[in-house]
Amino acid sequence: MITTDILIVGGGQGGAQVAISLRQGGYEGSIVMVGDEPDMPYDRPPLSKDYLAGDKTVDRLLLRKAEFWEKNKIDLCVGKRIASIDAEAHVAITDDEEKFQYGYLIWAAGGYARPLPIPGGDLSGIHVIRTREQVDLLRLEVENAREIVVIGGGYIGLEAAAVLTKQGKKVTILEAESRVLARVAGAPISEFYESEHRAQGVTIHTGVAVTHLEGENGRVKSVVLANGDEISADLVIAGIGLIPNKDIIEAAGAKCSNGVEVDELCRTSLPDIFSIGDCACHANKFAEGAFLRVESVPNAVGQAKAVVSVILGDPKPFVDVPWFWSNQYDLKLQTAGLNHGYDETILRGDPATRSFSLIYLRKGQVVAVDAVNMIKDFMAGKKLVEKGLVVDKASLADTDILLKSLLG
Ligand SMILES: Cc1cc2nc3c(=O)[nH]c(=O)nc-3n(C[C@H](O)[C@H](O)[C@H](O)COP(=O)(O)OP(=O)(O)OC[C@H]3O[C@@H](n4cnc5c(N)ncnc54)[C@H](O)[C@@H]3O)c2cc1C
Repeated sequence: MITTDILIVGGGQGGAQVAISLRQGGYEGSIVMVGDEPDMPYDRPPLSKDYLAGDKTVDRLLLRKAEFWEKNKIDLCVGKRIASIDAEAHVAITDDEEKFQYGYLIWAAGGYARPLPIPGGDLSGIHVIRTREQVDLLRLEVENAREIVVIGGGYIGLEAAAVLTKQGKKVTILEAESRVLARVAGAPISEFYESEHRAQGVTIHTGVAVTHLEGENGRVKSVVLANGDEISADLVIAGIGLIPNKDIIEAAGAKCSNGVEVDELCRTSLPDIFSIGDCACHANKFAEGAFLRVESVPNAVGQAKAVVSVILGDPKPFVDVPWFWSNQYDLKLQTAGLNHGYDETILRGDPATRSFSLIYLRKGQVVAVDAVNMIKDFMAGKKLVEKGLVVDKASLADTDILLKSLLG
């Protein structure tokens, strides 16, 4: 049995930040981080961007070099999976029966890419983009692929399509909703990105249902739609969302819904167990208190810092405005806030200039801003959201007026 003051389960963005912030805050207790990937903690966003493109090496993905963890006495156990937790006894057990007795446990287990739930979804040549290992495999197969089908027009699917079309591949995006990014953005943003991708040579079909995949010798060869169309594919990428890793902690007794339920200090319903990042769901004040998971680096980092504040005895809830980004071609989309329940949008600027923003209002209040190549709007928009301001709509739309000047 290994005894540790802090046991972090998951060596990703959130888990790493807990360890880093604890040491930065002067914490001197023992810290063990158990992660089931073979890598030291690394940055996930480049997986669908520069790393997929081959413009970034594995070394440059790492959040910290090996010496950092050693020097700071953070014990990294990579390639190990926690399989069960006895919350009362404060013991976590790996799938090879190694036991960890902990003081506090931080469940930072993220999630896994949703597999394609249709016949043929398990053929070879079908890929997802969640881990470094998965992307290495994808990159190997991309070399010999000519026709690539991306199922799902969300951020990850679109980013991958942008990289692969630049590499000369024939890319087709299939999206079940009537427009890409439908779950996360308003119609003008979707229209803009659809037209950008089409201009780069990507084929996009929206409002289509994929019924199954056809294979040959166990390998995917085409994707079949409900209308009977068959799209040939040497390789398929499924970008259809994330399933949070919550089964193990739920079995230990933690209250879970669409994730591990936590309060504003990331405490679960179990004693001395916190949960953060993609697997944790919380009542978000920027979404009218709705329980949701925020899948982003700033959220994982912010929640990690909230946990550390509790452990260090100076509790500070994480209540920052959620924010996100997505890079496609030479376009940088930055989002501040959550457009949950929006009832109106204001277009600021002309999409044809490839630099514009879309502002989301709920009962007149600015709740989110999508800024495309518009860093100033993003920065000021974040503050507008934070203050929950109701601003004159004509001023919001007027690009001669800086959003910053509307902050009051
Ligand atoms: C391709 C891609 C692109 C992205 N792009 C962006 C972006 O542009 N901007 C942005 O803000 N966010 C982006 N994200 C999201 C961002 O990477 C995540 O929100 C962030 O990594 C969440 O951190 P986390 O610590 O919660 O989870 P993760 O980083 O996923 O870490 C969780 C770790 O726990 C491990 N684990 C799970 N179960 C166990 C277990 N039982 N025992 C041990 N270990 C376990 C997992 O294998 C994983 O290594 C992107 C994500 C992906 C996949």
